Amino acid sequence: MEVIEEIKNRLDIVDVVSSYLRLQKVGSNYRALCPFHSEKKPSFFVSPRLQIFKCFGCGKAGDIFKFVMEIERVDFKEALKILAEKADIQLKEEKEEFGERARLFQICELATKFFEKQLESKMGKKVVEYLLNRKINLESIQKWRLGWAPDTKSSLVDFLKMKGFSVNEIEKAGLGFKKENGEFLDFFRGRIIFPIFDLNSKVIGFAGRSFEKEGPKYINCKNTLLYDKSRVIYGLDKAKKEIKNKDFCLLMEGYTDVILAHQEGFQNAISVSGTAISDWQLQILGRFTSNLFLCFDSDFGGDQATKRAIDLAIQREFQVKVVLLEKGKDPADIISERKENFEKAVREAISIMEFYLKSFLSQYDKNELEGKKEIARRFLREVKKIPNEIEKEFWIETLSKEIGVSKESLLKEMEKIKIEENFFGEEKEEIIFKGEKTKREILEEKLLISILKLPQNLVLIDNEKMEYFSPEIKEILGKLKEDLKFDPKNLSEKAKEIFFEASLKAEIFKDCMEKDEITKETIFCIKEIAKDFVKEKLANISESIKEAEKNKNQKKLQEFLKELKIWTEKLSKI
Ligand SMILES: [Zn+2]
Repeated sequence: MEVIEEIKNRLDIVDVVSSYLRLQKVGSNYRALCPFHSEKKPSFFVSPRLQIFKCFGCGKAGDIFKFVMEIERVDFKEALKILAEKADIQLKEEKEEFGERARLFQICELATKFFEKQLESKMGKKVVEYLLNRKINLESIQKWRLGWAPDTKSSLVDFLKMKGFSVNEIEKAGLGFKKENGEFLDFFRGRIIFPIFDLNSKVIGFAGRSFEKEGPKYINCKNTLLYDKSRVIYGLDKAKKEIKNKDFCLLMEGYTDVILAHQEGFQNAISVSGTAISDWQLQILGRFTSNLFLCFDSDFGGDQATKRAIDLAIQREFQVKVVLLEKGKDPADIISERKENFEKAVREAISIMEFYLKSFLSQYDKNELEGKKEIARRFLREVKKIPNEIEKEFWIETLSKEIGVSKESLLKEMEKIKIEENFFGEEKEEIIFKGEKTKREILEEKLLISILKLPQNLVLIDNEKMEYFSPEIKEILGKLKEDLKFDPKNLSEKAKEIFFEASLKAEIFKDCMEKDEITKETIFCIKEIAKDFVKEKLANISESIKEAEKNKNQKKLQEFLKELKIWTEKLSKI
């Protein structure tokens, strides 16, 4: 397909990938923590030269299309759309797009427009007034596409039906529901609407805040094909760039906090529905930063769900800090009233461990024996969960000084503490270059890598030696011999994969070896592959000889014996 090539020509894989994760340059390549499996050391690489990515931990690899499909969890068609948009290419098929996801996107977009439009109504104007009072300005209302869902039975449903969508589709988008009497109603009625965006700033769902009416303060639309409450991070589409730049994010409690923060210049603010961040959300955030600043108003230390979420973040090796705000004040109020105070609080954010220690010290008397015991018991529980030993030691030392108890006693006490194990699930030992390759495949890959590092060694492989290699390696070496800069696109599928992987490894480990070492490696690999090949051949011939003896086939037997002699000689010469 032409359009695919066109997109590939216009987009650079480094730009595409780095709009999702933090890439770190290593030599001529980039690397990152793999977004597709959990790991502590980065084994995910991007090669600008080959325009591919590859994770040596979980094995995921491919081009920009594959990457977008994996990371957005969409099919090829959807990935094509996302990338075409980025590349500023109009897709011809767009009009014929009838996929379910596409229909839901359309519904969400239309509904957003509908809600936005309602702000012009009489009641809508009151909503705008209310928002302005809450210090959210008109620009922010537009930017975050806030709206009003009128307090009627089915005005949105009627509007969407008129636009050609079925009741079934509207329900699937989370915007309508059927009452017991069969009536089909708007899901949001009499609420201020906060559209929720995906990473590409497309509306995927909605939250509604009650306005001048009884009922829960906030409601979210149910999970749909597009929207999953536990996976969405509000504001991330608008914050991701700044989070990467500043290398930390401000986790706020609510939608309005995030909007106000962005409005006042804290564009790395985000929030999640509810106070507890999920493992999945941490994984997404981890693509952009590993520094999480908590900006909550209440005493969240007492909230179990938040507590567990913080533990999870620490387990995932996030540096968690707490932005201490004036007691009893909403972050939103502080941001809108005294921006400098908020700025200062962010600058002076303390680590979560410091926060725990402070709050335990304020709750118990460290001069009393009972107080010492209680502070130690509570704080050691938190220390025990820290994965890093150095950090652990640091906090034990701090606690020891603070309450005047020896480190040894504290360590002994910590031993006794049991914490719920592996609430986080076991992380597999990750090994770079793992996989189920045979000895032969590993040797061939090594050979290819060494040749790519030092192509002049191609002369070491003559036509006789070529016979020893698998068809794919033969194919690649053949091309390399013709032209070192051949276009790998023309290789067979399997050869292409092998070539890409080897090229990437060759580039990554380019400077690990001296030239003569590389040559030694090349010679070693050729020898080992040859030996392996000949030994296999000999084993086959021996089998045939046994067979011929059994069948008393003298003629065949002589033939095989002759062959055996030839190959045995070959083996001795290798
Ligand atoms: Zn991976």
